[in-house]
Amino acid sequence: MKVLVYSAKKFEIPFLEAANKTKHQVMFTEEALSSATAMKAVGYEAISIFSADEACFVTIEKLKDFGVKYISLRSVGHDNVNLRAASRLKIKVANVPAYSPHAIAEHAVALLLTLNRKLIESNARVRHYNFNLDNLVGYDLNNKTIGIIGTGRIGAVMCKIMHGFGCKLLGYDIDKNIGLEKNYGLQYVSLADLCANSDVISLHVPLNSDTHYLINEDLISEMKEGTIIINTARGAVVNTSHIIKGLRSRKIGALGMDVYENEKNIFFKDRSVSVPDDSLLIELNALPNVLITGHHAFLTNEALTNIAETTIYNLDCWSQGKETENELTA
Ligand code: NAD
Repeated sequence: MKVLVYSAKKFEIPFLEAANKTKHQVMFTEEALSSATAMKAVGYEAISIFSADEACFVTIEKLKDFGVKYISLRSVGHDNVNLRAASRLKIKVANVPAYSPHAIAEHAVALLLTLNRKLIESNARVRHYNFNLDNLVGYDLNNKTIGIIGTGRIGAVMCKIMHGFGCKLLGYDIDKNIGLEKNYGLQYVSLADLCANSDVISLHVPLNSDTHYLINEDLISEMKEGTIIINTARGAVVNTSHIIKGLRSRKIGALGMDVYENEKNIFFKDRSVSVPDDSLLIELNALPNVLITGHHAFLTNEALTNIAETTIYNLDCWSQGKETENELTA
């Protein structure tokens, strides 16, 4: 099958080539999919896209016209794809439902520890041979309450890790995981109760119409003073403006984020010479208690191997006229 991989990054190409061997004719482009770049897919039966690619209604219609039959996502999240349009136009879409939940959960923990123990500030001082310890006080995570919003694959690993730290666990999900209650003492509560009683809140829900701006000023106002929020899910699960207000009022003690609601067209590129004209991002970057990483929680060898293997597996199934269990379209 002829496959065009959009948004191909140098770091992932070797993994995709290793998984593909010589099965499919795979071409790579650094460009992201949009209605403007859909034309590049002319002559390809399949494309592969990542989270910064935009497969909206218009783009899907164009892809259909250009003869694309299959879209193999290299991500878990699929909020960037209009699945209804794809189903209607008979374009099959599949994702990588689980690559390494450990990669994401461990990154969430890294953000938390770095913020709580003020490692960036500490290291900046040491680099200048300043060994003063003022304003570097954090707290023990042991016995603190961690609220985990979304207890699916990644949230479950987060529960396991934070249980190891000796934390009390509160969970919020539309689907309860009884194993987490049994094994780690997780207590499911309402979203309001989770927000009101957690020292740290970690987000692990997909972005959809129900979770868009799930964390807003009403919930923030009920949080404990100094709550740490960690978001490795999707940027728009939190209302960024409300979070900034919370940070300024100190209601939110710190924010660790790997995802940002306006990250499309900003993340995954070197923007150091043309700083993005994005006031929210600039404001976040200026706050000392905010730690931002550029959507790289998935960047481990294990995750990249699994992503590449499942992306190629989905294409293998389609090229053999079979269904893949990872299909998202009806
Ligand atoms: P998952 O499907 O295993 O778990 C998601 C959980 O959220 C499920 O338990 C589900 O019941 C729950 N949920 C869905 N809608 C909800 C709602 N309205 N209210 C409460 N709970 C709800 O997914 P996962 O593998 O754990 O991934 C979670 C999210 O993490 C993905 O959707 C993706 O957006 C994000 N992610 C980010 C990165 C990254 O690099 N930063 C990488 C992978 C995934």
